[in-house]
Amino acid sequence: LRQAFLGLGSNVGDRLRNLRFAVHSLEEASVVVETASHVYLTEPLGYTSQDPFLNAVLEVSTELAPLDLLELCQRIEDRAGRERTVRWGPRTLDIDILLYEDTEASAKYLTIPHPRMLERRFVLEPLSELADELPDRTTIDRALAECPDTSSVEVAGTLVALGDIREVPLAFIGTGKVGSAMAGDLRERGFTVDAVYDADGDRCTEVASAVGARAAKSEADAAGAATVVFVTTQDSHIRSACERASGTGGDMLLKTFVHMSGSLSLESMDAARRKGALLASIHPVQTFADSVSAARDLPGSTFSMTGSAGARAFAMGLVEELAGRPVPLADEDKALYHSAAVIAGNLTNMLIGAAAEIYRGIGFEERQAVEAALPLARTTLSNIEKLGAAEALTGPLARGDLSTLEANLEALDATFPEAAAAYRAVSLLGLRLVIERGAVDDATILAMKALLEGGAGAEVEGAP
Ligand code: ATP
Ligand code: CA
Ligand code: CA
Repeated sequence: LRQAFLGLGSNVGDRLRNLRFAVHSLEEASVVVETASHVYLTEPLGYTSQDPFLNAVLEVSTELAPLDLLELCQRIEDRAGRERTVRWGPRTLDIDILLYEDTEASAKYLTIPHPRMLERRFVLEPLSELADELPDRTTIDRALAECPDTSSVEVAGTLVALGDIREVPLAFIGTGKVGSAMAGDLRERGFTVDAVYDADGDRCTEVASAVGARAAKSEADAAGAATVVFVTTQDSHIRSACERASGTGGDMLLKTFVHMSGSLSLESMDAARRKGALLASIHPVQTFADSVSAARDLPGSTFSMTGSAGARAFAMGLVEELAGRPVPLADEDKALYHSAAVIAGNLTNMLIGAAAEIYRGIGFEERQAVEAALPLARTTLSNIEKLGAAEALTGPLARGDLSTLEANLEALDATFPEAAAAYRAVSLLGLRLVIERGAVDDATILAMKALLEGGAGAEVEGAP
């Protein structure tokens, strides 16, 4: 795949829609839009008695050779209704090839880099968000400093929406814990929640009035007037909710769909993408036991974000407004990302549950069992926070104490084989922390490894 930068411009009709049409059409033609700049409002150059432009720059990956890419861009311009009358005159859509790999070439129909890009602030400003250097190694900052163009070039928004992010109409489909917390929190921060929908009518009315929004009658009704549609149903319903939200009516070229699932990829919202919507996912790395704590815990949380290039700048802005910490994530890594949360959260819970069960098995009361396990877990967490996982490690593994390790395993094998298996598996994983700490010699580490890999009764294997 080859990397290229495309410059987009429009000053006729619904300008943002025209830029979005370009992005959607490129992707339909298998040109991958990797990143997108903000959208800029710019004064016309050359032929100045015309309306202001919206401009943006895209970084794309493509198999197309430069001339084929140019032909595709011109086909998309035609489909957007471009008429060529005045040179540098008004146009619904202009797509120029700014850069193509490190190519420097001039032919009859195509010059790369674009011959006039250095004279244009409306090209250099958005390009500087995405690239550092030109093929001749001059930096884009340098090119901007030397650019003679003094016309006005201002950030107007993102490909998701222009103007103040708080005025973008939002809809929520699904008002469970995360959906209602998110809607409530955004509303408190001055965002515009236009509509909410929930299959449970009472719940829908209740949440709608709590966040000052319209209670929608269907998914499509909720999405209707919204620019950004949050699909915050249970994971298993995201696909069908999205299909119903985008099923009727025309294209979705000005809408963006956002889900908040920790494990699903963006493919779950493909119905909306096919109709032109941008997609994003933002997921708070946080557990929510109830709605109240959900609203309280959102600010300050880390949010992972995946999304179409055009939706990323918006998602980033949204998370920042929530006082969250955004961390970008590749869509294909979503399942792996989720497994880490399960290990850190759910598996910790299960291990504490197993410890409590062992305590109960030797006569502790229910309450006493939990009270015995929790302070240990808490101290462990705060030590990890202070010292890091390796330095915080204690116990037989950390000391290289083979006999205690053997005694632990023997006792568990005899009474609680599932816990014995978990003990072995987690400890094998923990050996890398022991190695990192560097306090146990290699021979002891190998002996512990053999003991842990042995499984129940392994020490008697081969015995007479
Ligand atoms: P400008 O090229 O100054 O931005 P424009 O975009 O209004 O002006 P168009 O009418 O869109 O001009 O294109 C004129 C011709 O420019 C096209 O037919 C195309 O063959 C040629 N061209 C040369 N180099 C490029 C390039 N890098 N990207 C796009 N078109 C190019
Ligand atoms: Ca142009
Ligand atoms: Ca052009």
